[in-house]
Amino acid sequence: MSLKRIAVIDYDKCYPDKCNWLCQRKCPVNRSGQDCITQDNVKTKAVISEELCTGCGICPRICPFGAITIINLDVDFGDPIHSYGINSFRLHKLPIPMNGKVTGMVGRNGTGKTTALAILSGQLIPNLGNLEETPTYEKVIEKYRGKELFNIFTSIAHKKNSVAVKPQMVEKMGQIPGKVYEVLRKINPQKAEHVMRELGIEKVAQRELSQLSGGELQKVALAATALKDAHTYFIDEPSSYLDIRERLRVAGFIRGLLTSEKNVLVAEHDLVLLDYLSDAIHLMFGQPAVFGVVSSVHPTREGINLYLEGYAKDENYRFRDHPLTFMEKSSRNIQKQQPLLHWPTFRVKQGDFTLNVNAGKLHTHQSIGILGPNGIGKTTFVKTMAGLLTPIEGPLPQRIPVAYKPQYVEAIPNMSVDELLRGKLSEEMRQTKHLLIEPLHLPSLYEKQLDTLSGGELQRVAIAAALGTDAPLVLLDEPSAMLDVEQRLQVAKTIRNIVDGTEKTVLVVDHDLMFMDYVSDQLLLFEGEPGVKGSVRGPLSMEDGMNGLLSQLGITVRRDQNTRRPRINKPGSVKDLEQKRANEYYYTKA
Ligand code: ADP
Ligand code: ADP
Ligand code: SF4
Ligand code: SF4
Repeated sequence: MSLKRIAVIDYDKCYPDKCNWLCQRKCPVNRSGQDCITQDNVKTKAVISEELCTGCGICPRICPFGAITIINLDVDFGDPIHSYGINSFRLHKLPIPMNGKVTGMVGRNGTGKTTALAILSGQLIPNLGNLEETPTYEKVIEKYRGKELFNIFTSIAHKKNSVAVKPQMVEKMGQIPGKVYEVLRKINPQKAEHVMRELGIEKVAQRELSQLSGGELQKVALAATALKDAHTYFIDEPSSYLDIRERLRVAGFIRGLLTSEKNVLVAEHDLVLLDYLSDAIHLMFGQPAVFGVVSSVHPTREGINLYLEGYAKDENYRFRDHPLTFMEKSSRNIQKQQPLLHWPTFRVKQGDFTLNVNAGKLHTHQSIGILGPNGIGKTTFVKTMAGLLTPIEGPLPQRIPVAYKPQYVEAIPNMSVDELLRGKLSEEMRQTKHLLIEPLHLPSLYEKQLDTLSGGELQRVAIAAALGTDAPLVLLDEPSAMLDVEQRLQVAKTIRNIVDGTEKTVLVVDHDLMFMDYVSDQLLLFEGEPGVKGSVRGPLSMEDGMNGLLSQLGITVRRDQNTRRPRINKPGSVKDLEQKRANEYYYTKA
């Protein structure tokens, strides 16, 4: 079968005046006299003909700025639904919302989720890959006559497919002026109170949006979306900044949006939540910023397992050469571990909140997961270790340098990634690139300004800035937010490798159970009443920590037979009751 060629140029990185058209001079097809690589009308950028390109792979290797990607596909996905231009990103197929159902989308960042959404919401008329003519709905409807998308495009064209969107980056809502209840009542005065109560944000109703925490903003964003009268609700990453209990509450709320006339599309990278929430799944695969494909729809369990396996069954396309597994982690060499820090029993206060901590200790070469709800004192604990807070009872003689990645990462204006990392990374981390810089895919970001990065890019830079310092103790607060599944696994592996390869101990606060399972050697469990009082147990074994957390939440989790991934049991199901009786909420006893 003939190979289909995709040639994409990142025009932000193409500078022919600096390379003197190197790709054009070296392309073997050009050298044989054909115009495979040409110059655009104004002679400032290269253009590659996908018809003439033989996919030899020379130009991506020799371009000094890494601007070119060439892909040889052995599967023909047909014409794209939309292409942003010659040698630009293209998307094949679309997710199909189903009335009365939550349809989940799982995939890599940069494979076209936002593009698909812009098409479904009528903001973008797709050009079907035809760059010569102005796109119209008539052409699109004609193309899909007799197919599932025909009805969808007919309603989009007649403006009958109203879409309400919960955006990915809820932090931006903090810039909206006004109090929570004012903003929500303006959208829907009748239902605002009810929705605030359902999401548990009635207590912050009188606050300005700019004063809210990330979790509160997430729930206000969900409320604002739900209050709109729409046919399709598109919920992009509802999990960020929410603890596990809140994730489950929000899942129930999202399902409550369904009626026989309405549908929900959810994009989410916390696979335990996506599994719990969805009735069906589309995989989104391809290569970020190059091409994206939306798979046909699958039952939830099968869809998530296919995604982890890296295989789009109906399209017969392997999009990853290895399965993703969050279950098989390297074991830690405990002989390397030396005492790092011990603390006495102490009590510390922050405003009206009190944290009680029993004596405990940490060693070097440890990766410790921190579990517990928001507002329970996790940051307070670490700030006390760093000497930033003084206990009201109990001495804390040892102070230790701590590097900290906060939950909300803000971009410093007028600073490039390179400048930030040069200021933060130790000499060792700058030299040993394979430990941190390469696995987090940072080199391609060096030149970019921090305030132009996407949420996921900024997150990776912030993780590197904290992990790469000289500090022996690192706290990463919600490192998984805005990262796709592949990136979560990569970050978890990077943390484990750093802990192995240096003397560091890394504390990780996160609410993605699969991620925590993989990243942690042991767990610290925070319990109590958020905002009022908290206490700390541990470090505990994975078994005691996970079972302790889930028994507090009253949920049980089984493992998928094929992938061993955790799946939440339906409350009251046979498995749920069995596991509760045996006190095995997640981990079975050894
Ligand atoms: P996702 O939401 O999955 O991260 P997007 O749909 O936003 O992906 O974008 C996919 C790719 O399309 C991006 O990586 C970008 O390279 C490209 N892209 C998005 N918008 C445009 C545009 N207006 N012009 C050219 N390329 C674009
Ligand atoms: P977590 O990291 O578990 O989300 P924190 O340690 O940040 O929780 O905060 C615990 C509680 O302490 C918060 O709910 C808040 O009520 C209170 N708190 C935190 N910082 C301050 C402060 N600077 N002033 C007053 N109260 C605070
Ligand atoms: Fe030069 Fe690379 Fe642009 Fe080709 S794509 S002209 S090699 S910068
Ligand atoms: Fe030319 Fe295509 Fe080879 Fe690039 S990959 S050098 S465009 S034939």
